[in-house]
Amino acid sequence: MTDVLHARAFEDNYIWLIRGKSPDRVAIVDPGDAEPVLAALEKQRLTPAAILCTHHHGDHVGGVEDILKHYKVPVYGPARERIPAVTRKLQDGDHLDLPDLGLGFDVLDVPGHTAGHIAYYGAGMLFCGDTLFSAGCGRLFEGTAEQMLTSLSRFAALPEATRVYCGHEYTEANLRFALTVEPDNADASNYRERARALRRQNLPTLPSTIGLERRVNPFLRSGQAGVRRSAEKQAGRALVSELEVFAAVRRWKDGFRG
Ligand code: ZN
Ligand code: FE
Repeated sequence: MTDVLHARAFEDNYIWLIRGKSPDRVAIVDPGDAEPVLAALEKQRLTPAAILCTHHHGDHVGGVEDILKHYKVPVYGPARERIPAVTRKLQDGDHLDLPDLGLGFDVLDVPGHTAGHIAYYGAGMLFCGDTLFSAGCGRLFEGTAEQMLTSLSRFAALPEATRVYCGHEYTEANLRFALTVEPDNADASNYRERARALRRQNLPTLPSTIGLERRVNPFLRSGQAGVRRSAEKQAGRALVSELEVFAAVRRWKDGFRG
C-alpha cells in the first residue's frame, strides 16, 4: 500500500509526501514552505519525483521555488491559476501519471476556495488542498457557494474508503462547529473524542475518509433535515433548497467563534 508521510509548516499546514513503489521516492503535495520539506527529505533519505499543487495560496506554493533549487522535478498545478513554477498545467479530466512512484491521479476541478482549485484522486487517496477539511470546508475566497457545493458533492460521491488528505489540521475546531449544527450527531461526538486524543499526542487527525466525512461534515450534509433545521434557526428564515442551506451554514461558520 502506498504510504503517505508529512511535513508540517506554519501553524497547521500539512505538506504530504506520497511514497509509491520505490521506498525512497516521493511526490510532494502543496509545499508552502521549503525548509520542513528539505529537512524531512534529508532525514528520511527521500528524493522527490514531482511537486503537486492544488491552488495558488502562499501557504501551499511558497516553498516550491526553493525546493527546485535543490531538486529538478516537474511541478504540476491548476491550469486556471497563476503559479509561475508550474511546468504542467492540469484541469478536470486530466490524468497525471507518476511512473517513478507507480501511481496515477485523476484531476478534478473543484472551485470554491479559489477559482481554479484542483484536487488529485488516485490509488484510493484524495488530495484536496483547502476545498474539503475534516468536518469542514474551505472559505469562499474566490468562488461561490454553488461552486463549492458542487465541488464537495463530487468528493462525497467517491468511494467511502477513500483516504482524504487535507491541507490543514482544523479538525477539532471544525467539530466544535459541526456539533453546534448537529448536537445529536453521535458519529461527530465519537470522532471528537478520537481527534482530541490524537491531538493531545500531537498526532494528525488526518487522513480522514469520505465515509467518515459523509457522517460528520455539515458541509456534506446540507441535504439532511437536521442540518436544514439548525441553519433555518440561525438564519431566521425558511431555507428551501440544499444550496440555500449550504450557503447559510457556510456563512454561519464564517462568523462562528466556538
Ligand atoms: Zn488556501
Ligand atoms: Fe491553506
